[in-house]
Amino acid sequence: MGGETMTWQKVSTEVGLDAKDPFELRVNLSVDVPESAVKTALKTGDMGFLHSFTTGSTVDGPGVRVVAWTAGCQWRCLYCHNPDTWNMMNGLPVTLERAIEALRKYRHGLKLMFGGFTLSGGEPLMQDRFAVRLFTAAKSMGIHTALDTNGSLGERLSDEELELIDVVLLDIKTWDPERHRHLTGKDVGPTLDFARRLAERKRTIWLRYVLVPGLTDDENDVNQIAMFAARLGNVARVDVLPFHQMGRYKWKKLGINYALDDVSPAPPWLVERVCGQFRSVGLIAH
Ligand code: SF4
Repeated sequence: MGGETMTWQKVSTEVGLDAKDPFELRVNLSVDVPESAVKTALKTGDMGFLHSFTTGSTVDGPGVRVVAWTAGCQWRCLYCHNPDTWNMMNGLPVTLERAIEALRKYRHGLKLMFGGFTLSGGEPLMQDRFAVRLFTAAKSMGIHTALDTNGSLGERLSDEELELIDVVLLDIKTWDPERHRHLTGKDVGPTLDFARRLAERKRTIWLRYVLVPGLTDDENDVNQIAMFAARLGNVARVDVLPFHQMGRYKWKKLGINYALDDVSPAPPWLVERVCGQFRSVGLIAH
């Protein structure tokens, strides 16, 4: 951007949408967007606030995927890898047309690679209207869709809108209510309610579980989640994601107190133990 000041409209068209990966720090890209424009965007979905698009992901749903990372999250997970996505105004203002165009570029390749489009974050349902319109566009291009969510805002989607999403990557952070509040700042109830609703509607879930030594490795907690997931009947797979420190530098750069400085990445034996707990109730776990 050089030394010159850019208007937000210019930022919106000139700042690149693609990032090498979501670990690129992006801040303040929407601070100049007037409040009225933000409100209209949230109401209509004409514009979204995105950290970036990344391509080639093989860990955010089936096949090879294009992932749009949204900005804005009301949770404050102690292990969050992308705290720059907490504030919606850190994201790049992106018109719906521009986002759809970015997706259109990849539609043939995604089909060839049995992949699709994943909306992740941040929490994508903070921008539920934008999410619905992007999923609608993706489906009309024949692209497989996935939503990566903490599930707490699931009630913002109607039953018909749920049909636009082929698979929900549902993050369950931990089971114990007190531990959940400590870990995320919020209650686990709405996430579990959303999981039950997805089960009733027969929508596929891929459950995601971030494994942090000393924080989310409690055997009983994992058992409770595993039994809950098995009873749902719509959990096609469980991804156990070993905690790593790749996001630590963002906390430091943003000047936020990071509580997990001394936590080591989850060792392979622990990952295996937790995967085994999910498998023992009949689930497929990786
Ligand atoms: S829900 Fe996701 S984006 Fe939000 S704070 Fe937790 S890990 Fe970060």
